[in-house]
Amino acid sequence: MITINKKDYKIIDVHTHLPWQDEYKTIKEKEQCLIDELKKNKIDSAVLIADSLSESCIGNNQECFDVVKRNANLKMVYGFTPLERFDEQLTELHEMLEKKEVIGVKLYPGHEDFCMNDSRLDKVFKLCIKFDVPVVIHTEWNWDYYPQYSHPFFISQIAEKYKDLRIVCAHIWIPRSIESIKQTIKHDNIFYDMSSFAFDDEYKKLYPKATFITYEKAIEILEEIISKNPDKIMFGSDFGTLKIDAHIEIVSRLNISELNLSKLLFKNAQKIYRI
Ligand SMILES: [Zn+2]
Repeated sequence: MITINKKDYKIIDVHTHLPWQDEYKTIKEKEQCLIDELKKNKIDSAVLIADSLSESCIGNNQECFDVVKRNANLKMVYGFTPLERFDEQLTELHEMLEKKEVIGVKLYPGHEDFCMNDSRLDKVFKLCIKFDVPVVIHTEWNWDYYPQYSHPFFISQIAEKYKDLRIVCAHIWIPRSIESIKQTIKHDNIFYDMSSFAFDDEYKKLYPKATFITYEKAIEILEEIISKNPDKIMFGSDFGTLKIDAHIEIVSRLNISELNLSKLLFKNAQKIYRI
């Protein structure tokens, strides 16, 4: 068990969204909620990930960019979909990368109906390499019927083909993290964020049928990953849906060295996102 002494550590949350809940009616209200939450949890800076859809309760690219512009402690990841407005998005993304307005690109396979071996994505990977930013991929294995569009096999293929591309696997295929890590860890350009490892009681009430891991299991998985690969994993919460304090609680219960804690909380994020 470690105590997080804020004098010794910075905390960067690399995976946040604007909250989607109905009580926040406007983007301004969603922004305020996120900012308050970061402050409450003493988060120094956060990566705000935009949705790829033009109509979204977590904010589209333009809406999230407006939020990031108003808050110096936020950086933005661009949400991209290969399913619509392809050239339009590519042009917009190119411009934003050129102006350093975004620090990464997020893809949502599984939430959206495309697979990571889709050749349309090559253009996105090439842009990421050109501008030296990571591609962030939604990975989960939660449901038997959930399409395995971001299966570790596809991610390994991309890592092999594009050795200069940094790939961040968000959620580490929870709950099948250990087996997925085994299939991807040998690639130097694959990284992970621990967002959505803490399923709090409020969330469980909302989705009673979902099979989520316990805090104990999350701690066991994280300790196993960090002990072998301390440079590959970053702190993230998936705020908007899940809670930052619950993720901090899990981190505070990890049996890891101070050096590895600092890597998890901010040093790896600084390297991987170049921030
Ligand atoms: Zn997310």
